[in-house]
Amino acid sequence: MEYEAVIGLEVHIQLLTKTKIFCGCSTDFGAPPNTHVCPVCMGMPGVLPVLNKKVVEYAIKLGLALNCRINKFSRFARKNYFYPDLPKGYQISQYELPILEGGAVEIFINGGYKKIALERIHMEEDAGKTVHKPDGSYVDFNRAGVPLLEIVSKPVMHSPEEAGEYLKSLRRIVRYLGICDGNMEEGSLRCDANVSVRIKGEDKLGTKTELKNMNSFKHVEKALEYEIERQIDVLKEGGKVIQQTRLWDEKSGITKPMRSKEESFEYRYFPDPDLVPLIIDDKWIDDVRKTLPELPKEKLERFIEEYGIKPEDARVLVEERELAEYFERAAKESKEPQSVANWILSELLGYLNRDGKEIKDTLIKPEQIGKLVELVEKGIISGKIAKTVFKEMYNSGDDPEKIVKEKGLIQITDRGEIEKLVEEVLESNPKAVEQYKAGKKNTIGFFVGQIMKKTKGKANPKIVNELLVKKLEEK
Ligand SMILES: [Zn+2]
Repeated sequence: MEYEAVIGLEVHIQLLTKTKIFCGCSTDFGAPPNTHVCPVCMGMPGVLPVLNKKVVEYAIKLGLALNCRINKFSRFARKNYFYPDLPKGYQISQYELPILEGGAVEIFINGGYKKIALERIHMEEDAGKTVHKPDGSYVDFNRAGVPLLEIVSKPVMHSPEEAGEYLKSLRRIVRYLGICDGNMEEGSLRCDANVSVRIKGEDKLGTKTELKNMNSFKHVEKALEYEIERQIDVLKEGGKVIQQTRLWDEKSGITKPMRSKEESFEYRYFPDPDLVPLIIDDKWIDDVRKTLPELPKEKLERFIEEYGIKPEDARVLVEERELAEYFERAAKESKEPQSVANWILSELLGYLNRDGKEIKDTLIKPEQIGKLVELVEKGIISGKIAKTVFKEMYNSGDDPEKIVKEKGLIQITDRGEIEKLVEEVLESNPKAVEQYKAGKKNTIGFFVGQIMKKTKGKANPKIVNELLVKKLEEK
């Protein structure tokens, strides 16, 4: 019997607003505990929440980017539960009337695009943080009231890879929009997964489990792989999957039960009487629409079309908005966009990865990459020398022309000069010449090496090869 997995994801993104969702406290990460708090986010009696307009703006932005239906009338609701890091005893969220419904996240998988349909997206406040130490447990309320969007997909994914691509695609979009930094390790993008299995071809969904505690893309995929296999094994042995919440244990690589359905919370949702319903008009939506940047997929298609670069290269370049913009500035400076892409993808990203840096940290201005490519294209320096120049550019941020001039790296293209060198090398290596004449054509590599050694790599390799073959045939 063949089984099929059914996966739905719930993703929480922390919004990059300066202040919290219902008060003026800062949202900065990493401040000393309980320094970004006030009576509102501490849940003191008698205070009233005031909605942060920016949160709504960001939600509309995401709704437009994912083609969601934007509800002009939505409402906040109280989600009641007790936990030490929840000062009010309830979390302000949205329930029966969320701000966004429908829409989809497009993913690229197996060489094609696939739309992963969304159920809804709603606004809510984050809870605080409990820290357990040997001498006791502590609560930090800095995070209490930080704005979140919860993005709920429909259960339409069928493999851990699809789920992974969905997350990457969603992360890319929220980062392009500038509404979330997408940092999973710091918890600004969190993911829970609902997963079940069924016999392939059946319509009815199997019993699902909810997976929590996965703080990287890799863990999400690994946890799903494990859980799908576990559920299939249970069914194969004639057992039943129990509906429960399971925690991913990174160290042992397995999921462990946390609580079952019987213990699950009854949240007693009801409309929050302290907040009026949220009304959004067309003008507001239009104003936000004007601020939308070019999104990753549109950028990808434009890069392929406008610059004629390889699709697989374009895909890497649009991964981060900064990198895409960097490429575009460099490409405009050169007639060879593909070469520009090659330099950025192999050399620049190689160096940055080695140093644990990001594109914004590099000393090389994009225009300088374009100039370097032009130096090679015009034959002023060889491709090999260009690598030396690039290294220097990376370390100093200097212009390629300046480096070439100062270090005397200009390529030797004078045929007479190269011819003389060729003759010298052939004369001082009679044995190798004999071998060449005897049919060992690859001896030519040895001669090229000798000439490059004499010129410190500056001789134009095309002319060197051409003249070598000519002189050897003459002998
Ligand atoms: Zn506050």
